[in-house]
Amino acid sequence: MEENRQVYLDYSATTPVKREVLDAMLPYFTENFGNPSSLYTVGQKSKDAIRTARDQVAGLIGAQPSEIFFTSSGTEADNWAVIGAAMWKRGKGKHVITSAIEHHALLHSGDHLEKEGFDVTYLPVDAQGFVRPDDLEKAIRDDTTVVSIMFANNEIGTIQPIAELCRIARAHGVLFHTDAVQALGNVPIDVNGLGVDMLSMSGHKIYGPKGVGALYVRKGVNLPAYMQGGAQESGKRAGTENLTGIVGFGKAAELSGQNLEKHIAGLRGLRDYLLEKIRAEISDIRVNGSLESRLPGNLNVTFKYIEGEAILLLLDMAGIAVSTGSACSSASLTPSHVLDAIGVPVEEIHGSIRFTVGDFTTKEDIDYTVEALKTAVSKLRGISSLSRDSGF
Ligand SMILES: *Cc1c(COP(=O)(O)O)cnc(C)c1O
Repeated sequence: MEENRQVYLDYSATTPVKREVLDAMLPYFTENFGNPSSLYTVGQKSKDAIRTARDQVAGLIGAQPSEIFFTSSGTEADNWAVIGAAMWKRGKGKHVITSAIEHHALLHSGDHLEKEGFDVTYLPVDAQGFVRPDDLEKAIRDDTTVVSIMFANNEIGTIQPIAELCRIARAHGVLFHTDAVQALGNVPIDVNGLGVDMLSMSGHKIYGPKGVGALYVRKGVNLPAYMQGGAQESGKRAGTENLTGIVGFGKAAELSGQNLEKHIAGLRGLRDYLLEKIRAEISDIRVNGSLESRLPGNLNVTFKYIEGEAILLLLDMAGIAVSTGSACSSASLTPSHVLDAIGVPVEEIHGSIRFTVGDFTTKEDIDYTVEALKTAVSKLRGISSLSRDSGF
């Protein structure tokens, strides 16, 4: 095995900042450092840069620039959309609908609302991770005010039928939000075609910097402000803007939009190659989630009879970065709520690994990874107490 080879297959956790993105950001740390709210030239330059970034992010999802509100993260966008909309509409009712496989940014917003006296329905998903439109239809009540269903899942990559789900919510006069953090830059998105009221995005999942996100809010949806203070973000999100972050996010959004189809085809090719090789080299595996409506870079595989954490550590020793289930629960042994929701037995959840390829992944990276994986799996199965031979 080669020494010191580094292979990053965790693009759903975060992505490196692209060179062009960094280059676009750098001047705004130093010579163009002005406060966008200042009236003199250096401030206005900053204001112009934010305007450009807003155009770029809006362009990626077919929105108007005035419908884009920059935030500190995808997490903040999710909290603002769901908690903000629920609080805003609480005179009408206190029922919110989401799904069982949301990111923690959404699930914990739901917990928060429950503590505030709201009723939250967590829709189940089928064995491939899809929310059934019928289930949504049945769950909507007179007091339902907000539905939030993620666009694409971060663990198993399932892409939901968002347009259809959105149509159902809106037919009942209910606001529809989607967490599109994973979908952005990996799925063509047109907010008007979909009909969504709110949509969350994050910079660091699309080769932009960490600590910046955005919430799309459809014109006419008068979501209350998230932060109180100055007049930034049309008075909705006060605080001096993360100028460099916003500039970087804008540039990353522009680059994502330029080669979207090619990017998608490239990732899909690499992902399918990885799956093919794993299938050819390793027995007793199962792919989790749908292979049809799935993020192009995502592969989630169960290696039966062994622990994913042990595989992860052996791969890490070979310089390969992958993830078990979701990064958020990787510090603990809590089984992934997503794999649980699609019916993966608990001992198999613990044997599951998420691989996500990205723009810098090569075929050689995948060849190297499958070799290391083969070695790791046979080593672990040799000592596994869960192995078939032990009669488990
Ligand atoms: C990463 C992620 C988030 C959180 O975005 P941050 O910018 O890291 O806060 C939310 N939802 C999904 C689906 C994600 O993958």
